[in-house]
Amino acid sequence: MAMTSSTRFGPSLRVISGPEVRALLPMADAIGLMADVLAALSAHRAHVPLRSAMPVGPGGNRLGLMPGVLEHPAVFGIKLLSLFPQNAAAGLSSHLGLVALFEAHHGQPVALLEASALTAIRTAAVSAVATRLLAREDAGDLALLGAGEQAASHLEALRLVRPIRRVRVWSRTPGHAHAFAEIHGVEAVDSVASAVVGADIICTLTGAREPILLGDQVAAGVHINAVGACVPTAAEVDPALVVKSRYIVDMRASAEAEAGEYLTAMEAGAIAPDHIAAELGEIVAGLKPARQDNGEITLFKSLGLAAEDLAAAQFILDRARALGVGQSVQL
Ligand code: NDP
Repeated sequence: MAMTSSTRFGPSLRVISGPEVRALLPMADAIGLMADVLAALSAHRAHVPLRSAMPVGPGGNRLGLMPGVLEHPAVFGIKLLSLFPQNAAAGLSSHLGLVALFEAHHGQPVALLEASALTAIRTAAVSAVATRLLAREDAGDLALLGAGEQAASHLEALRLVRPIRRVRVWSRTPGHAHAFAEIHGVEAVDSVASAVVGADIICTLTGAREPILLGDQVAAGVHINAVGACVPTAAEVDPALVVKSRYIVDMRASAEAEAGEYLTAMEAGAIAPDHIAAELGEIVAGLKPARQDNGEITLFKSLGLAAEDLAAAQFILDRARALGVGQSVQL
């Protein structure tokens, strides 16, 4: 029997643009989705190896590869990213690329999604999951360190999980903090210290390679989402803050390989491996406690996982199919 091109090459591939990703993945849905996939990951129902990255030229740009497999939904795939930290100066995201999604019954590629919008949303949604579980119930004073793409998505996400009443933003280039403040109706400040004094929630969202947030700047009861610094040679927070925090990670193996502040504190003998109190998914699943008292300092180290990208991609694809959004391409 002659095979048609569709039986031979599989169904069409749906191509979904950045604006479509944004329209199809509202932050509130993303937060629920990330809670579920983090719990699946900690229960070994989602599988990701450590990601890899290779230099592209001599200027610090890299090609990032993040593969993964989910059991429910049964999909697999990879996020392919160009990591170009200086891109903001050209008006471009520092994380450009694609999520390639495959279904796991016959292994057919089913979607290609723009990755920077997806990354911005899913990363902030993960921090919102951490904040919902770890910040004090009444936490309303937010400090954003960094004024880029992640700062904007974190502002949106954290407003959904806590009654945020005051927001201060700091950035290395003061004009960027002021521009962000104007767009978002928040307060710009000119130092990290003046952003974090009295804050209940602090997010570090920068490309810093050396600590910008120090242990002695953080008061009892604060929750921190440490989101930038995703390679072992970089850290946004100092070892003193790691030591005084209840330290929670997205995935143990990633933190042990990639979290600069954790590795530095370990090398100094300031902490032992059991300093990683939990994976966030274990807290979501109720296997480990959320915030234990109002005085505890909690620090969630986000490194970012392909499982998060794939879960978001499948959700977006389902909605794109239902609404007829995206372009179908026959491979
Ligand atoms: P942007 O390029 O949009 O913004 C970067 C921000 O970091 C700007 O505020 C910039 O300051 C600041 N910055 C850059 N270099 C330094 C430095 N050496 N010291 C202090 N501040 C610096 O990036 P994004 O918002 O997209 O990403 C922010 C961070 O989050 C990056 O490190 C990125 O790799 C990481 N990330 C983490 C993810 C995760 O899952 N954990 C996912 C995606 C991103 P200014 O422009 O004012 O000079």
